[in-house]
Amino acid sequence: MINALTIDVEDYQNVFARDWLERDGPPTDAVVTNTRRLLGLFAEAEVRGTFFVLGEVAEGFPQLIRDIASAGHELGVHGYYHRQVFKLTPETFRKEVADAKARIEGLIGCAVMGHRAPAFSIMPDTRWALEVLADVGFRYDSSIFPIAGRRYGWPGFRPDIHRMTLEGGGKIIEVPLSTVSVLGRKLPSCGGGYLRHFPGFVTRWAFRQVQRARPAVLYMHPYEIELSPPDIETSHLDAEAAHRAKRFHRLQLRNRHTVEPKIRALLSAFQFAPMREVIEQVLPNDAERAAG
Ligand SMILES: [Zn+2]
Repeated sequence: MINALTIDVEDYQNVFARDWLERDGPPTDAVVTNTRRLLGLFAEAEVRGTFFVLGEVAEGFPQLIRDIASAGHELGVHGYYHRQVFKLTPETFRKEVADAKARIEGLIGCAVMGHRAPAFSIMPDTRWALEVLADVGFRYDSSIFPIAGRRYGWPGFRPDIHRMTLEGGGKIIEVPLSTVSVLGRKLPSCGGGYLRHFPGFVTRWAFRQVQRARPAVLYMHPYEIELSPPDIETSHLDAEAAHRAKRFHRLQLRNRHTVEPKIRALLSAFQFAPMREVIEQVLPNDAERAAG
């Protein structure tokens, strides 16, 4: 069983400042440093994956995008400014994903097939996003968590990689994020905060559970391996907002030192490939059609 290795390329300081500090600005070069560290780790382990990149990161750091591609990895789109789908209208969503896709394609000289929404924000209420993605020319999406989550999720969504024919007639392949059942409840298991906070053996157990039925989808962010990011400045916020921002930031930093060793252990225990190759393995005809 070959699993999908995926990386959501965004700059922590930039996205954190926008979401929590009411401050907008361009991504910082920490995203370059951290992504290059991940590239080094993957080169050492001889694995390739899919990097879902923000349009603003591609805009600010074009050489990074070219270097990801020339190391043999697949590139996909992770929105333009990391705004969750439910904060956008269908028109602004279309503009963001189309602009990011065109920008990345211009840098690497080949078609971008895949999309992952910021914060897994394709849910029943934002299912229209799939229609837009199909229409803009994406072949697959990997944004849906088939769980009833607090911040995201689509309860009851089919957990396998599968073709969808959309209400408007468009077609797209969905690669849902991996979950495991624990005491009758479906939980996310193979990336992000779950990778950071669960002991390594729990994640490896979850991987084996997922692999009984389907390829697992591992996801991570370059900033998760950055051990000492700069302090955050909250003096311009009211006390409540400052408190919430600091609490979120503390939680983001917790267990970061465990992430790199956990990734190394997963890369040596399991087989990984870019998402487009994993799809090819499960739905061979679609991949041929997409490549042709
Ligand atoms: Zn993200």
